[in-house]
Amino acid sequence: MNDADAQRVGAALSGLGFCGRAEPEEADLIVLITCVVRQSAEDKTIGRLESLKGLKRRHPSTMVAVMGCLVADPATLRERFPWVDGFFRPSDVDGLVDLVRQRFAPETAPALPAERTPVSVSIPISMGCDHHCTYCIVRLRRGSQQSRPAGEILRETREAVQRGAREIVLLGQNVDAYGHDLPSQGLNLAGLLSQVHDTDGLLRLRFLTSHPGEMTEELISAVAGLSRVCPHLELPVQCGDDVVLRRMGRGYTREQYSSLLSRIRQRVPGCSIATDIIVGFPTETREQFEATADLVTAERFDSVHIAKYSPRPGTPAALLADDVPQDEKERRHRILEELQTRISQEINSTYMGRTVEVLVEGRHRGRWRGRSATNKLVFFDHDADWMGELASVEINWAGPWSLRGTVKG
Ligand code: SF4
Repeated sequence: MNDADAQRVGAALSGLGFCGRAEPEEADLIVLITCVVRQSAEDKTIGRLESLKGLKRRHPSTMVAVMGCLVADPATLRERFPWVDGFFRPSDVDGLVDLVRQRFAPETAPALPAERTPVSVSIPISMGCDHHCTYCIVRLRRGSQQSRPAGEILRETREAVQRGAREIVLLGQNVDAYGHDLPSQGLNLAGLLSQVHDTDGLLRLRFLTSHPGEMTEELISAVAGLSRVCPHLELPVQCGDDVVLRRMGRGYTREQYSSLLSRIRQRVPGCSIATDIIVGFPTETREQFEATADLVTAERFDSVHIAKYSPRPGTPAALLADDVPQDEKERRHRILEELQTRISQEINSTYMGRTVEVLVEGRHRGRWRGRSATNKLVFFDHDADWMGELASVEINWAGPWSLRGTVKG
């Protein structure tokens, strides 16, 4: 979601005559797009803001703006960080642009040609969330779910594809619930996917993040039946123990989650599944953690994003004692990382000798970099310009986090 906000801010600012600078010292305007989903992310943001204080003293005319989930109470933030010129809630690109216009009078600046449109463009289709996961601060910062009208989403998709995008990623905190709050529109995510799918020139379509309790048979059928929808789902499980799942307020059991996965795998053969897991939730015992490790072993996810629990102020879980010691959280984190590295390596090794279609997104250290439909990162060497193209790549090297190969034909 923050990447999508950054893309939108970047596009709006280049339309006002701004271009990117590698060093903050050289910039007229610095925008921090912030995340507070975990304490470590919030600490990083605060550290960054503190470090900008000196820069602002040296360059008082540099404008500093902060956007995103840190911005819950702008008045308090203004008191704490008086060197920041403006605070904007998540996705408030218009508010930021208004302030920039006032400050820089950009009508005098020539509009620059827009920067090259990324091959993969993310489009937020809903903000906020109606679930009540007890550890989650997102709902407090982004509010209850607000879906965007389908007409706006389709227009943005067409425009992005006309500018050169080849893949669209539809985003929502709980993307599967798209449209529930727009009953008069009568369109759910499955319906939206089939409309976006028909955009001329679009090669690939993805969506994230799903909620296991919201993934309907109709949605699974859409993934199975729409050829441009990638066989890749982001489906956070968070934990493999039912008691902890209940305390987290996730609304499903481990068995329900596993049965959903087997239905997906039956209907969408080869579908890759990524998940999120929190270790060290309050009261999580070693046995309960073992249940999560068991689930990871049994379900063989393609990738797992593992977070150590940290209490977020204002959430129900923050009222519970954070009673799993830090070194035990680190131990659980390490065990899952090692387990998943092995599984990812085994899964990726099955790609050896296979030819996969890679949508090329850019270059990295002299090589072309892209993704398979199953979201595997693939690198290859070639002299031709593959930017934005689909390349058939025969895989001849597989690591846990990426694949390498040679272009065929
Ligand atoms: S579904 Fe996701 S965004 Fe919504 S409350 Fe739960 S963790 Fe937070």
